[in-house]
Parts: sequence; C-alpha cells; structure tokens
Amino acid sequence: MASSETRSTEETVENYVDGAWRTPDSDDGEAVVNPATGESLATVAFSSDGEIDTAVTAGTEAFEEWSRRPVEERIQPLFRLKTLLEEHQEELAEQLTAEHGKTLAEARGELRRGIENVEVACGIPSMMQSGTLANAAPGIDESAVRQPLGVFAAVTPFNFPGMIPLWFLPYAVATGNAFVLKPSERTPLTAKYLFELIDEASFPDGVVQLVHGSQATVEALIDHDDVAGVSFVGSTPVARSVYERAATSGKRVQAQGGAKNHVIVADSADVAFAAEQSISSALACSGERCLANDIALVDRSVHEEYVDHLVRLAGDQVLGDGTAPETDVGPLITAAHEERVRELVETGIEEGADLVYDGRDATAAAGGSTTEGDAVEGDADGNYLGPCIFDGVTPDMTLAREEVFGPVFGVTPVDDLDEALSVLNRSRFGNAASLFTERGGDARRFRHEAEAGNLAVNAGTAAPMAFFHFGGQKDSFFGDLHAQGEDMIQFYTDKTVYIERWPDR
Ligand code: NAD
Repeated sequence: MASSETRSTEETVENYVDGAWRTPDSDDGEAVVNPATGESLATVAFSSDGEIDTAVTAGTEAFEEWSRRPVEERIQPLFRLKTLLEEHQEELAEQLTAEHGKTLAEARGELRRGIENVEVACGIPSMMQSGTLANAAPGIDESAVRQPLGVFAAVTPFNFPGMIPLWFLPYAVATGNAFVLKPSERTPLTAKYLFELIDEASFPDGVVQLVHGSQATVEALIDHDDVAGVSFVGSTPVARSVYERAATSGKRVQAQGGAKNHVIVADSADVAFAAEQSISSALACSGERCLANDIALVDRSVHEEYVDHLVRLAGDQVLGDGTAPETDVGPLITAAHEERVRELVETGIEEGADLVYDGRDATAAAGGSTTEGDAVEGDADGNYLGPCIFDGVTPDMTLAREEVFGPVFGVTPVDDLDEALSVLNRSRFGNAASLFTERGGDARRFRHEAEAGNLAVNAGTAAPMAFFHFGGQKDSFFGDLHAQGEDMIQFYTDKTVYIERWPDR
C-alpha cells in the first residue's frame, strides 16, 4: 500500500522481490541524504549476490507463466499503474525532491514524462505485432512472431529517479518479460515509492522486482546466467564498461552515457529568446540533466547581446530548497559532486575563460534571491552552487570538453554556422544539440550535419516524447536500440519466422 508518510531516518530501504518487501542482509550500504539540508533520510543496503540470484530466479519462474498470458491481460496492471501514478503524483514528487533536490515543479514534470511511457506501453498489443505475407513462396504464407526473452535488468542514474525506470519497465513487462530494476543508490526512495504503487497494481509475483546496490550488485546482475539483457543509463565510463561486460557474455545491452550538449546561436536568431531557452536548459534540475545544453556556440555578430541576456537571466534565478515554490535552482546531489563542479569552475578560470556571472558565493534561502556574489542567509548543510556563466570558452578548454553536470554555462564565439558545426561535431559526446535561427537553410543543414541523437531547432532542450526513442550517439550511447517507444519493443523481443505449406493431396 502506498504511503505518503515521511520516511524514517532509521529506515533501511527494502528490496521488492518475488512480490514481497525484503530488507537486504548485507552490511554494505550508505545513507540517503537530502541534498537541500544534509538530513539523512534512510539507509540503503547493497544487495548481495545471493539476493540478486533470488530475484533473478523469481523472475525466471514468473516468466514461464507471464510470457504465455494473453497480451491484453499483461497490459491491465499497467493501466492500473498509470492511474495510481497519477493519483500519487504529488507525494511521489515530494519524495523525489526530498532525496534528489530538484524543484517540485521539475519533479512533477519528470513524473509526467514517466507516466507517458506507461501510456505508450499500454499499446503493446498493436506495437508488438510483426509482419505477415501471404504467398511469400508458392503455396506458402510467411509471418514473423515477436517473443519475449526472459528476465531483463535496468540500472538507472540518480538524476531522473521517477522517469528513467519507466523508460524500460512498462515495455519489458508488457512484451512478456520479467524485469529487475537497480536504481541509483543516491535516490532509492523514489524507486521504492514506485514499487509500492507497482505492488498495488497487482503484477504477478516475480514479474517486476527492485534490488538496491552499487557496482557489485550491477555486476552480479549482468553476470547472472538467467539475465537476458541489460539497460543502463549513467555516466560514460560506466556505460562503456556495462556495455562491454554484458556484450562479452552475449547479452542484449543498451547503455546510455554522459553528455556535452551544444546550443548554436546563428546571426539571424531571436537572441533574447535563445538566451532564455539556453538558461532554462542549462539550469533546470541544477544542470544535472543529460539533455542540459551547457555550451553555446554563438555567432560573433550577436555574441555580446546574447551574453548580456544570459547575465541578466542568471541574476533572476532563485537558489534554494526545491520544496520552496519560488526556487528556480535546487542543490546538487551530493557534497562531493558540488565540490567537483566548483573545481571545474576554478579550472575554467585557470584556463583563461571569463567568469561573467559568478554564483559561487550565492547561498540558498527560501524566497531569497542570488544576485552576483550575494551571500544571503541559507542552509549551510545543503549542496548549493549558484549559476556560473563563462564567456570566451575555447574548444580546447576543459569546460568545453567535459560534462559538468551542474549550473555552469559556457559561451564560445564563432564566425559562422560552418565553424559552429565543426566544433560541435568534434565533441566526443553526441547526446543533444539545439540551433536558434530564423533561416530554414540553417535548420536543414543542422538537421543533416549535427552529430547528436536529439536535435532541436528554436527549442532549448531536445527531449523526445515517450513514443519516440531516446538515445544519443558517440560516447553518449553504446548499443543500437535506444530507450522508449518502438526501439524498446525490439530490444525486449526476438523475432521468429514462421512458414507453413499445406500441399493438396
Ligand atoms: P553513474 O554512472 O555514477 O551511476 C549510474 C548507475 O550505475 C547507478 O545505478 C550506479 O549504482 C551504477 N554504477 C555506478 N558505478 C558503477 C560501476 N563501476 N559499475 C557498474 N555500475 C555502476 O551515473 P549517475 O551519477 O547516477 O548519473 C549521472 C550520469 O548519467 C551523467 O553522466 C548523465 O549524463 C548520465 N545520464 C545519461 C542519460 C542519457 O539518456 N544519456 C540520462 C540520464 C543521465
């Protein structure tokens, strides 16, 4: 039964295995901390190999019956889950904000995108159909049948704990597989809440399971003989290693990695609009988004005007606890990550970029504002960093090359679209990119030449809806089939060709 009660700090976050809640027996684990206050919310224990085996075995057993159930029956728990998610959206958003730090509005938006995937997966009876051809050969009709494969695992990151599990779970189970989620150890409580609703939606025992843990847990899942495939979302080094490990043992794997997303501002762009969209893309969820545009390639003719707008807009941002309605920018996930982002800001200064808006001294206060260098009274225990805007970032600088994952934005002046596309395409990442222009010809070139998996023209964030795939290119993605939509059906099923002939006797 779902509960909106505040979690006890004593709570050990439970696994959900074979239809029951179980406390992991391992001594290994860590605290789940509210990044806005430093308060400990619960303890997450890391599941042992034995616990992973229990979950995968329960999934394998459940698969036998579940995969044979009529597809129409398999989607009924998803309809119930959609209703439950909507009914509990507000409590889920509060839980998400408490452990992640993003604002309540951002948490609500994230959950909406997650629910969208449940809705799309309810269409599996149509989406899972494969082709049939009469008279493929003399007297022979031929058809292809999609079949589920067994137990699939998904390993998800901290930054969208309510949405990213739903990129996978609804499609895996509706196509007839069993599913095991290993969420981020930093945000396990949102996953637990999701599974309270999943429990209420009445999937058969063992079809959908939750195990907590870190690297060793992930490796035990990947290595388990009865896991048919793995979906991963997280940083590039881990994505690469998960991809290699799973592929080595012949498993299906899709691994989404980190990002460095460029926004190109052409000379014809509506510059004020481009700056508004850029700031919103860069600072939403405190920059902890794989789709955050965090580096702008700006035509020299509009560069000064664009930077003026950015500085003005950065000054309007309210830094604070995500639960305060006036907050625009919440805290970063951990103190260690805040430290890393601050170090990258220092590196930017040392490498010669010009810090035109300095949010390093901004501190949080409900209702307070963060004008440059202002130190309003706030909560010293939260992981706060105000927006930092750099001008004069050159393509060789660390800020132009590395994922920052914080409220830091860089601007690089360029001569024209040729130079912008050339800089963009030299990036090792290829997750997303945006172009602001008033010229159709620019847009067409961008669409055909920009090397990134999610492209937007005159929009700050190239976020695909659930009925389209979500995936990057280059070091932002390892695999071929992406998350969400039609790709998920292909990932979670294999096709068998069936032919028959009935000769006249
Ligand atoms: P992370 O790589 O640290 O962790 C992701 C998951 O992997 C977690 O569940 C974690 O427990 C597990 N993990 C961590 N180290 C591991 C290891 N060595 N071996 C096996 N598993 C391991 O990522 P994060 O900090 O949680 O998330 C932020 C990153 O995720 C950013 O780089 C961001 O760009 C990326 N991300 C990408 C997308 C996308 O669609 N491309 C979406 C969201 C986030």
